[in-house]
Amino acid sequence: MAAIKQVLTIAGSDSGGGAGIQADIKTFQELGVFGTSAITAVTAQNTCGVHGVYPMPAAAVKAQIDAIGADFTIAAVKTGMLFDAEIIAETAAGIERHGWRNLVVDPVMIAKGGATLMQEEALQAMRTLLLPLAAVITPNIPEAEMLSGMEIHDATDRKKAAEQILAFGAKAVVIKGGHANNPLIAEDYCLDQNGESFVLRSARIHTQQTHGTGCTFSAALTAELAKGQILPDALVTAKRFIQAALKHQLHIGAGHGPTNHAA
Ligand code: PLP
Repeated sequence: MAAIKQVLTIAGSDSGGGAGIQADIKTFQELGVFGTSAITAVTAQNTCGVHGVYPMPAAAVKAQIDAIGADFTIAAVKTGMLFDAEIIAETAAGIERHGWRNLVVDPVMIAKGGATLMQEEALQAMRTLLLPLAAVITPNIPEAEMLSGMEIHDATDRKKAAEQILAFGAKAVVIKGGHANNPLIAEDYCLDQNGESFVLRSARIHTQQTHGTGCTFSAALTAELAKGQILPDALVTAKRFIQAALKHQLHIGAGHGPTNHAA
């Protein structure tokens, strides 16, 4: 029997179980890969918001990465909340040291409720240290605006911003459309280093249960890349997975409830 594919998430913990490491591990399990984790920060959080952020020392992030690297055969890695420049540097160095491929960078910056999950001065470290290692980066529109340094109002801006982001060295970028103000359609735009582009279009699902969508989408993408899918196929599967999760309303908690795929 072929060994189960093993993957790693380097991300923050969400005590509310909807986003971060918890969303990643649940998604990995659903998609049939074995999930390991290096925790970068602990958040005290529920569906109503982020109550506290406690970053881990960078040395603890390094120790977790090296423990995983010493024992597992990691087929794909994703990064989520990395919080500061020191943790980003340790993360990038660890990925290079262990020769890991199929890196999915979800550039987590600000929670939906407004809490800061990455310090502003860490942006440059993300651009210069992490993006050159990425197989794909998955910003939402506000994150794509931060990374590219430009505003996105229409499809022309979106293409320009994607080109700016690719200039930092990622092999591909997916700008997710969930934050756009189109009430009918959610449209994700993918551009790669060869200039190939495509759009994934779907009917917009209207729901309050959106906490952790970005984490779940990028974890699904990571699982599919680990299984050997090429990027366009992995993206289609990840999009279907997140749509199913958005339709599956749990109504847990008083705020933005968690996205959850389990039937
Ligand atoms: N908390 C952690 C630890 C995360 O990694 C993320 C991911 O984006 C969030 C919170 C944000 O969750 P959301 O903005 O989907 O509510």
